[in-house]
Amino acid sequence: MTEGEKTHSYKKETAKPRVVIVGGGFGGLCAARGLAGAPVSVTLIDKRNYHLFRPMLYQVATGLLSADQISGALRSILSRQVNVEVLMDEVSGVDTDKRLVRLKQHSISYDYLVLATGIRYNYFGHDEWRHVAPGLESLDDADLIRGKILLAFERAEEMAALDHADTEAIRQLLTFVLVGAGTVGVEMASTLAEMSRMALAHDFRHIDARDAQILLYEAAPRVLPTFPEDLSAKAQRHLESLGVKIYTNTRVTSVDADGVVADGQRVRSSTVLWGAGVLASPAGHWLGAAMDKSGKIIVGSDLSVPGHPEIFAIGDTAYVVAPSRNLLGIKAKEPMVMPGVAQPAIQGGRYVAALIRRRVAGQRPPAPFWYWDKGDLAIAGRRYALADLRMLRFTGFPAWIVWAVVHIYFLIGFANRLFVMLQWFLAFLTKRRQVRVFPGQERAAEAK
Ligand SMILES: Cc1cc2nc3c(=O)[nH]c(=O)nc-3n(C[C@H](O)[C@H](O)[C@H](O)COP(=O)(O)OP(=O)(O)OC[C@H]3O[C@@H](n4cnc5c(N)ncnc54)[C@H](O)[C@@H]3O)c2cc1C
Repeated sequence: MTEGEKTHSYKKETAKPRVVIVGGGFGGLCAARGLAGAPVSVTLIDKRNYHLFRPMLYQVATGLLSADQISGALRSILSRQVNVEVLMDEVSGVDTDKRLVRLKQHSISYDYLVLATGIRYNYFGHDEWRHVAPGLESLDDADLIRGKILLAFERAEEMAALDHADTEAIRQLLTFVLVGAGTVGVEMASTLAEMSRMALAHDFRHIDARDAQILLYEAAPRVLPTFPEDLSAKAQRHLESLGVKIYTNTRVTSVDADGVVADGQRVRSSTVLWGAGVLASPAGHWLGAAMDKSGKIIVGSDLSVPGHPEIFAIGDTAYVVAPSRNLLGIKAKEPMVMPGVAQPAIQGGRYVAALIRRRVAGQRPPAPFWYWDKGDLAIAGRRYALADLRMLRFTGFPAWIVWAVVHIYFLIGFANRLFVMLQWFLAFLTKRRQVRVFPGQERAAEAK
């Protein structure tokens, strides 16, 4: 530890064991809440001051919802839980010998450490693409992406109004490329297609927003590669019916401000959005722990890091293989690798909180972690979704209803739930998007 860090160590006012949780996403927040009333002092650290409901982030990026409807200040969410303090700072390392978490200016000691730092997009060694092809990860990204999309239409309109309009340039502006056809790519492609054909259709005088081309590239043989094949095929048919052009088995090998190169072909586009792959946060490197190929920390059956019974990794940043049960509680024959979705993070957070409670109380440890696998949902438009509940699969409007109910249920805050339902209802009736202004236009323009 440097001299500077020593003098700025975070004060420890309590004799209670200190639990430091890094990350206020689904995993970290559930861990913090699970420790309510426990005889511990919890410090939740996040580099952002908000908890974000990522499953609905694409709706902010496409102007259906506003940022505050799917997020909440961590400090406010946890304000009634007296054993928690919230710290907005970025963790840059962990000293496992001294049990210290390193922050930007100082360090903080822990008795228990929970790492729930999530993922970031994988640009496969081309981090320079990040600026021209942003991924949807934070509220800033959603604003930036909404700005890029709306700006492309504005520019095309302006250009089309000129004498001798450059039709190639207009075409480039109205071509939207999405790289990666996982759930985020499918959500974005379907919503963009509907946006251009419905919400924006009557707003321009010199262009027809319906001419927008939505191109979805996927290196795997099918869209939604983690879903069963029959659902992937249905998703593809539905996307195509919305006008999305899908290129599977197609690898994007280059990205720049003028578009992409896909399977050797130049595709001109002013708006490229990235959702092709993920890397875990650097938490594994902080510990020098064993990791899988995407950098996830390989944890034991109680979600602790091998050799460090006081450190846990949960959610997207952990590689967990655990027994599972389906919706009806029936145990699967084989253990499964936890998917990168919200439920493993939520259940992992609750499990670790229960384990710490027991350890602090001197009780026997709980049984190893097991996963209650409730299945997967993906949305592909304003009234179409896909549901894989393992013993039952269905698509279309019934799946959309399930998607909507589940997502409203997990959204934080009664007011948010109410406003989101109202906004969806209005959008459903009017086919309009509410959030059409885009602050940060300079940033979006720069990012082009
Ligand atoms: C656009 C999008 C759509 C998605 N849709 C769905 C869906 O429909 N259904 C579903 O189940 N899952 C969905 N997911 C996946 C789901 O959001 C994640 O699996 C889930 O958020 C994982 O939770 P987590 O707690 O592990 O990490 P996160 O929720 O990512 O939280 C990590 C937190 O750690 C903080 N952090 C990171 N590094 C540091 C640091 N160094 N210092 C301090 N703080 C740090 C971050 O600010 C963040 O708040 C989606 C993800 C994305 C990106």
